[in-house]
Amino acid sequence: LGKKHLRFNYEYYLPEMEEKMAWQLGVLKELRHDFSEHKLEVWYQPQICLSTREVIGCEALLRWPNEQGSFISPAIFVPLAEQSGLIIPIGQWVLEQACKTQSELLELGFDMRIAVNVSVPQFRDPQFVTKVKETLAKYNITPHKIELEVTESIVMDEPEIVIEALTELKEHGLEIAIDDFGTGFSSLSYLKKLPLNRIKIDRAFVKDIPEDTGAIAELIVSLGKKLGLNTIAEGIENEDQANCLRLMGCEEAQGFMFAKPMPFKELQEFLLSKK
Ligand code: C2E
Ligand code: MG
Ligand code: MG
Ligand code: MG
Repeated sequence: LGKKHLRFNYEYYLPEMEEKMAWQLGVLKELRHDFSEHKLEVWYQPQICLSTREVIGCEALLRWPNEQGSFISPAIFVPLAEQSGLIIPIGQWVLEQACKTQSELLELGFDMRIAVNVSVPQFRDPQFVTKVKETLAKYNITPHKIELEVTESIVMDEPEIVIEALTELKEHGLEIAIDDFGTGFSSLSYLKKLPLNRIKIDRAFVKDIPEDTGAIAELIVSLGKKLGLNTIAEGIENEDQANCLRLMGCEEAQGFMFAKPMPFKELQEFLLSKK
């Protein structure tokens, strides 16, 4: 039945696939090398309270510098690190950095939540929950000052192990947020199953405000309220968007309008300038 079809696909796709795979392997090799040489960085993007404009937390974001003095986008290298399992040690390292930063900021008088992105393969590691708890203990972190961000796809891929691990971590006191909400291909039913504190409204539903009415963002905010969840809007770039989201009842926001992701030193200066 499928022979002709298969052969067609095979002949048609092979050269392109081979090229792509070779390129991916090259990137991955460099990533592994640079990670082992401590060349990766964690930057922080402030999160603010929409009604007071106070900084209430920040999101930890990976940065991989290249030789040209710029950065390779996490959108490119994170999926490769996920496919190869390299995201397990990298993700653990990001969590350590976030804990270190949380305790250093606390010493400076800034008590804020730090959000860390977590990928599916990290949940497949049977040691994941233990490692997270041990890392927080090592840096003497109050668990609710660390938030784990998971995407909708994470739940579709591994519902049981993810829900079990997140439940245990939330019971331990960590905060849990669902990232890029509304962009995945999943149903709403998992919202009831997942132990959540917060919904992150994807930038897609914010970026065209005020031309766009923001109806979907508004729907997500009211859904959050009904479920007793806090909402945070991603990708706020102007005052119209900030105002609109605040009027909808969205509590928190993150975006270039308030601050771009920045290294720890700059974050310190940023926070001091706001004091
Ligand atoms: P994300 O978790 O949804 O992170 C938010 C992304 O939106 C960041 O992109 C941030 O720089 C960008 N952003 C924030 N405000 C604005 C804005 O106002 N306008 C626009 N246009 N963009 C804004 P970034 O840093 O390139 O990260 C991309 C993605 O890579 C992240 O999306 C996350 O999925 C992944 N990622 C980054 N760091 C990590 C990590 O440590 N672990 C894992 N597993 N994934 C990570
Ligand atoms: Mg995120
Ligand atoms: Mg996001
Ligand atoms: Mg996003």
